[in-house]
Amino acid sequence: MRQILIVEDEKPIREMIAFALKRSGFEVREAENSHGARVQLADRRPDLLLVDWMLPDMSGLELTRLIKREAATRDLPVIMLTARAAEGDKVAGLDGGADDYITKPFSPRELLSRINAVLRRSSGSTTDEQVDLGGLTLDRSSHRVTAAGLDVALGPTEYRMLEFFMTHPERVYSREQLLDRVWGGNVYVEERTIDVHIRRLRKALEAVHLDHRVQTVRGSGYRFSTREA
Ligand code: CA
Repeated sequence: MRQILIVEDEKPIREMIAFALKRSGFEVREAENSHGARVQLADRRPDLLLVDWMLPDMSGLELTRLIKREAATRDLPVIMLTARAAEGDKVAGLDGGADDYITKPFSPRELLSRINAVLRRSSGSTTDEQVDLGGLTLDRSSHRVTAAGLDVALGPTEYRMLEFFMTHPERVYSREQLLDRVWGGNVYVEERTIDVHIRRLRKALEAVHLDHRVQTVRGSGYRFSTREA
């Protein structure tokens, strides 16, 4: 049974959601704040998280960022719930790593269709042990990258960066977004550091003549592309 963790401090809303999800065959767990959510996450990993934006201890956005920074929970799908309908907030939520966004008030039917869509999308990328793209093969179980049978020698950071790029191709990511999604953690990293790792990644890919896959988008950031620049 698919398990969903609801993180919401308002009891009536939490209960309404739990009721609707149980009726649709989901197993439900509940947390009333970010701390409670983290305790439950450490205990058992759900299939999806519903996170309210406004929580009493740490905002839902901060909680989502933390989840997406930690290697153990990075690929856990998160849907944010919020009363804010502003476009800027939606962008902030998605930039923070949320997989989708739903504005209160919503109907149980709308919520279920969003949940099912996110679960469908995420099941592909989280279970794929191997990613083949643009002439590169990335093996997630061994952390090995090959091109036409040749090993690509990568440091751990370059590996994580390439893994992120290969699972999010063709989209441009700013240095700040890459910091969030690739580095995570609470370490302080200067944005210039990103450029250093990009150079190292390109150098490693140069050995197999695929450095052009990592493209600089002037004024915006970087992208991994299978199209020729
Ligand atoms: Ca709330």
